[in-house]
Amino acid sequence: MAYDDNNIFARILRGEIPAKPVYEDEYVLAINDINPQAPTHILVMPKGKYVSFDDFSAKASDAEITAFMRATGKIARDAGVDATGYRLIFNHGPDSHQEVPHLHVHILGGRPMGFLIARTAA
Ligand code: AMP
Repeated sequence: MAYDDNNIFARILRGEIPAKPVYEDEYVLAINDINPQAPTHILVMPKGKYVSFDDFSAKASDAEITAFMRATGKIARDAGVDATGYRLIFNHGPDSHQEVPHLHVHILGGRPMGFLIARTAA
């Protein structure tokens, strides 16, 4: 799947849509989810143009991957959910219901997260 330069996170990264970063460095931007599903619901995204985890894991540089992983852990720690626990979710593609085609990981915490996935038919 080709990267869509007009996806909402691309526009946030270009500064066309205002967003309050929770965290930012050379490679990474994190924002609060606009429709939070838990008391802490942060989206961490690379600044590079990657559609999803599949794209990122195959094509990103070691520096980008390291920065992304380190930042995600730090952001969760800084949000104060490391002691009580949190869930990380990457959605890739239609079966996952990925809505925004720019890689991001959801950090969800601040309450018990329940079952891993909805118990629907396998
Ligand atoms: P996904 O289904 O994994 O692609 O998740 C996309 C997430 O982006 C959803 O949880 C949305 O609530 C969130 N979202 C969409 N637009 C914005 C926005 N402008 N600012 C913050 N979060 C957003």
